[in-house]
Amino acid sequence: MKLVKLIANLGYGSRKQVALMFREGRITDPDGEVLYADDKVGHDQVRLDGEPLDPPPGMLLMLHKPVGYTCSTKDPGRIVYDLLPPRYRLRSPLLSTVGRLDRETSGLLLLTDDGQLLHRIVSPKSRLGKVYEATLASDLHGGEAALFASGELMLESEKSPLAPAAMEVVGPRQARVTLTEGRYHQVRRMFAAVGNHVEALHRSRVGGLELGDLPAGEWRMLDEADVERLF
Ligand code: URA
Repeated sequence: MKLVKLIANLGYGSRKQVALMFREGRITDPDGEVLYADDKVGHDQVRLDGEPLDPPPGMLLMLHKPVGYTCSTKDPGRIVYDLLPPRYRLRSPLLSTVGRLDRETSGLLLLTDDGQLLHRIVSPKSRLGKVYEATLASDLHGGEAALFASGELMLESEKSPLAPAAMEVVGPRQARVTLTEGRYHQVRRMFAAVGNHVEALHRSRVGGLELGDLPAGEWRMLDEADVERLF
């Protein structure tokens, strides 16, 4: 791929704007030799104003989504992309969220520009467990875990029952739920179906990846070892 396209695709500007950067001599190799728009050299051999470029396509990152942010790019309010470097929103291929967390849910959110990887993570065949910590308005009554595990729970306006889900009691109003599917507002609707109400919801794990002590609003780039851990 010609460098002008490679750099424009990373969100640094339109092709015209990037072409100007070449003319200004801002794009060089690691030794400071000026590169040209039509050159075809490896991503790691390019510097812009002396700095390495943003990661090439194929990136996966983990964000600790705070409450109050949506996963949509169209929402007029705060969106998860506001928490990332502004250029990341302008990349091609697009950096997409892997599934969604609703506005009031916090926790581990993955984003990737790798369509195949995204598909693999969300595919029911991968059966990746997503772990949610729920804080409830009323005490658990004791029958929830069996019902969630039964594979027979029907949610309102759904045509098929939910896949079996595991639930652990953490406290009288605290539960840890592991899902292998991701229906709309699933955890909130599961507790509504058993007469309870979720007051706070946090996703702590996806597959083998833990959110750990990543602070709310922060993100980190994941590497191949993380991808191994995920599946
Ligand atoms: N279940 C919910 O209710 N909300 C989420 O964001 C994720 C799972």
